[in-house]
Amino acid sequence: MTIVQDTPNVADEAATNTTVKHWINGAETKGSTGRTQPIYNPSTGEVSAQLALGDVTTVDEAVRAATLAQKAWGRTSLAKRTMILFRMRELMITHEQELAEIISAEHGKTVDDARGEIARGRETMEFVCGINQASKSEFTADASTGVDVHTLRQPLGVVAGITPFNFPAMVPLWMHPVAIAAGNAFILKPSERDPSASLLVARLYQEAGLPDGVFNVVHGGKETVDAILEHEGIAAVSFVGSTPIARYVQQKGIANGKRVQALGGANNHAIVMPDANIDFAASQISSGAFGSAGERCMAVPVAVAVGEAAEPLIAALKKEVEKLEVGPGSAKDTDIGPVITPAARQRVLDFTTSAIAGGAVAIVDGREVTVKGYENGFYVGPTILDNVTTDMEAYRDEVFGPLLVIMRVETFDEALELVNSSPFGNGSAIFTSSGELARRFEVEVEAGMVGVNVPIPVPVGYFSFGGWKDSLFGDHHAHGPEGFRFYTRAKVVTTRWPHQETAGSASMNFPGNS
Ligand code: NAD
Repeated sequence: MTIVQDTPNVADEAATNTTVKHWINGAETKGSTGRTQPIYNPSTGEVSAQLALGDVTTVDEAVRAATLAQKAWGRTSLAKRTMILFRMRELMITHEQELAEIISAEHGKTVDDARGEIARGRETMEFVCGINQASKSEFTADASTGVDVHTLRQPLGVVAGITPFNFPAMVPLWMHPVAIAAGNAFILKPSERDPSASLLVARLYQEAGLPDGVFNVVHGGKETVDAILEHEGIAAVSFVGSTPIARYVQQKGIANGKRVQALGGANNHAIVMPDANIDFAASQISSGAFGSAGERCMAVPVAVAVGEAAEPLIAALKKEVEKLEVGPGSAKDTDIGPVITPAARQRVLDFTTSAIAGGAVAIVDGREVTVKGYENGFYVGPTILDNVTTDMEAYRDEVFGPLLVIMRVETFDEALELVNSSPFGNGSAIFTSSGELARRFEVEVEAGMVGVNVPIPVPVGYFSFGGWKDSLFGDHHAHGPEGFRFYTRAKVVTTRWPHQETAGSASMNFPGNS
């Protein structure tokens, strides 16, 4: 495999002078490290700005501001909290285009695709606008004579989120609205590849009336992440990213006494049965495999064609892919933008080349794609490989690029076995017109999110999101009700009013209920 530098060496004088800063206690700050790293526009390959890098001191500054702010925020009434959250939701709508353009410029996805991720992220904001319903506690009257029992769920304090490049708005939005609505202060460490969306979100929170210090952003890579995982003032960490880093974050976070949910990588399979509507399945799988250049944790990089489904499915997929335009994220007619770095591009090329060398057949080969006027962009065209075997990297590893592999099997049972043999268990889908098989699939598949004739079964914001096996380390899924449980801890209160035990001596026996 060719080793390619992670980021190219194109430096633009003006861009070098723009610094994306941290956001601590309601204001931008460069921090004290004096270190920066370039941010690229993957569509052009050029440097768009410099990112201020944090360290232990930056994280500590954020934790101190957050700790102070949380004391008051945690006691702020639900009525006042939700008023701010409703305003934030409105601001996210009025600023949607601006946010989408920021995302597209640093990630490379199209502006419309970015608007889609904002809309899906906003669902979490909508869920927490009703946090007064979602956070209702339990109450039992007369559990014993004159004794009532109720539960409380209280905020943890200061919590942090560490997020990946592929959804710079949506994935953080799975976390901070729930954490904040539950009364916590939040520190976000966004991806260093596309950090600017988080700063606009910070400004919008301020405009919505969120007290300074409740939402903070610190930038950086491993050094900043380690500082978060080691800081005593942080009670819990939500992570979303690749499996090796998810595993690392969970283990280190737990070793430092934190509550951790760490969502990892994926390799989602879609089974296509011969009784499926094949054209429909092909268009859905094409969008799942190639949308956002395949850089979605709920992408569909593996189509499992059962029996006679294979030939018509391949023909229909080929037709779908021939319609797709590869181009810059900012262009109106682009369907597929660039991938995030030259190294990500090279990975797709290498996986494709080695699969073909091993006997795979290219139905569509995107390796030679170039985009006129954007020759330095990190483009790779949509690629479909047939005759792929389970020992090939293109099948085994998470590709995270616009590469779809077709696996041929003879029966539903073989297909299910293939899906369940994957170490990942994020999402999985079946295309069929058989209710019986769909139900068997739903029950027997080993994945956290399941689609029936739906290729990317990303749950709506008032359900929770999460995978199984190497796709999630920890006990809680993200956002929705599980997110609320993750960011709160339970208290059970037993009360007796008025106090009636005036006479008699104290019993040393464990008290029973009567
Ligand atoms: P990544 O694991 O490289 O980075 C994720 C975060 O971890 C970033 O904030 C990064 O700065 C930090 N990080 C990177 N290397 C680190 C290290 N050595 N030590 C500590 N922190 C480190 O992931 P990515 O490339 O940004 O995103 C793509 C990955 O995220 C894919 O594997 C994708 O499947 C996964 N993902 C999963 C979900 C999900 O819900 N399961 C959702 C989105 C993305």
